[in-house]
Formats: sequence, C-alpha cells, structure tokens
Amino acid sequence: MNAPRKQPAILIIYTGGTIGMYQNAQTGALCNFDFDRLVSYVPELQRFGYQLDSYTFPHPIDSSDMSPDNWVELVRIISDHYEQYDGFVVLHGTDTMAYTASALSFMLEGLSKPVVLTGSQLPVGALRTDGKENLLTAIEIAAARDKNGQAMVPEVCVFFESRLMRGNRTTKINAEGFDAFRSFNYHSLAHAGIHLRFERQYIRRVDANTPLTPHFRLDRNICVLTLFPGIQREIFDAILGVKNLKAVVLKTYGAGNAPQREWLREVLSHLRQRGVVVVNVTQCSKGTVEMARYESGLQLLQNGVVNGYDSTIECVVTKLMFLLGEGFEGEELRLKFEN
Ligand code: ASP
Repeated sequence: MNAPRKQPAILIIYTGGTIGMYQNAQTGALCNFDFDRLVSYVPELQRFGYQLDSYTFPHPIDSSDMSPDNWVELVRIISDHYEQYDGFVVLHGTDTMAYTASALSFMLEGLSKPVVLTGSQLPVGALRTDGKENLLTAIEIAAARDKNGQAMVPEVCVFFESRLMRGNRTTKINAEGFDAFRSFNYHSLAHAGIHLRFERQYIRRVDANTPLTPHFRLDRNICVLTLFPGIQREIFDAILGVKNLKAVVLKTYGAGNAPQREWLREVLSHLRQRGVVVVNVTQCSKGTVEMARYESGLQLLQNGVVNGYDSTIECVVTKLMFLLGEGFEGEELRLKFEN
C-alpha cells in the first residue's frame, strides 16, 4: 500500500507590489500594506487544506525598487527553507516581475521545486481585483504533483491571469489589462480555465534528487542601449567612458540589425579591446536575432557582438549579471553566454 501523501507545504513570500497595496487617502497614490492584511482579503486560503506559511520582506516594496540585492535576499529565503517546503509562491509587483523571475532562474541552480511568481493589476482589496485568482491559482500550481508525487512544474515561472509561463521567457506587456504578461518565444507551461491544464512537453524535466545550488553573487556593471534612427556617436562614446563597464545589451532592429556606420564599427572594436561584451537583442517581441542575415547585422557579428537569439531583455540583463557575478569576463563571458 502507498504511504498516505502528506498535505503540500507552500511558502508564500511577500515582497510587495499592487496586490498588497491600498490607496493613500491624502495623495490618492497606491502604497504597500502588510501580508496579514492581504490575507484577510482572501479567506479562501483556508479552504486549500495545505500547510501555507508566509515570509514577508521587512519593508514590502513597489517592484520598481527591486534590485539585485533583493534577488539575493529571495534566493537566501528559498534556499534556507528549501527542504521544509514543496513549493514557493513569490508575490511581487508586476513592473519588474520578469526580471526577478529571470534572475532567480539562474541563481537557483538544480531547482527541483516550483517557484511561482505572481501579483496583480488591482489591489487584492479592490472589488474587481485579479489578485485573488492569481494568488489562489499560483498556490495550486506550486502544490501540483504528478501521479508519482513529483512536482508538476519544477522551475521558476510566472503565473498571471490564465497563463503559466517560464520565468526567464516572460515579459510584461500591458500596464492596464489583467492579461499583463506574455512569453512570445516559448510555449505556455499551463493554462488555467475550468481545469488547470499542464503542457508537460514544455515543462523542464529534472531529477528530483539534484541538490539545490544557490548562487548569491551578481555584478551590475552592465548597461542597456536601445538603437533608434538618428542615434549619435556621442551616446556610444559616453558609454565607452563608463568606468568598470563589463557588458552592454544592444537593442537592435528586426533580426539584429544596426545602422551601417564606420563610427559604430570603431566603437564596437574599442569596446571589444576593453573587454566589454556586447550582446545583441532585438527590439521585436517575437523572433530571433540572426546577425548573418543582413549586412547591417553581419557588421556586428564581425565586430565581436554576441548573439542574444530570442531572449527577452530581462533574461539577457540578469544572465549577464549572473555570469559576471560568477567571475566570467571578456572572452570567457562571451563563450559562456552563448552556451
Ligand atoms: N508598480 C507596481 C509594482 O510593480 C505595479 C504592480 O504591482 O502591478 O510594484
């Protein structure tokens, strides 16, 4: 006879964001309140029959204030509680949720338990809030097991409205609608309708016995530069002057193209000589960088620019911070990044 399955234990980590905000009567602006007040708006939590515990950031924040230090804090909380819980739900503001999800996906090496990030567009106390459903479904996903008792989604992911998406493939696309996130270049991992339908073929397969190796170092000596028609050399020169700069994310056009200017090639070659890695990401939401397709892209490839393929900007930024934090720089970073 199989041993009876114990009830799932889920740790809810509350970082802040609209889900837990209220309207300041004087200013009319939204500010954070604490987790206990948030829970008081969701009495349904009692009905799960799971062990639900919480951990609250000492000062819940608007996610515009999220920083690499907070990602380290999250990794510390998850790794310190890893053995005690079957899954983790991170309540987070929507603005930078995709950055946090991407960062965690790199920093939690060997993860074999669900880490589900969610939040909402309307505070949980608002009448038409999307926060309740997002929270309740995220908990259900974090607790979901297959028939062998293995976690259904053993990876860092974002749940919003009705979609579960891979964390480092997700982008916020809507500042207003409830349907606020997309994963343009990778399939959804699950859909929530009448049933929760998991797309097992797209979900990471892991060995549940792999130990978690948390990483705590990030290096923020990077910058993001978006091309636009008419961009001037002075902008690039200013970047060349940034002390300690180790990598640049270049947001190019279409399949990874840039204006064909001699000065741009010169700047790129200076950056390379200085050991600054330049990664090419397209400004398009969907599709991939193919630098050999046009001459306007080929010039970048020939000047040592690294291919960011179909990555989101959030993914590239956090991957660079992570790899730099691990001590990879210059040529080593280039190789590591493309692997
Ligand atoms: N400004 C808020 C935040 O990101 C927006 C939200 O949560 O939806 O914290």
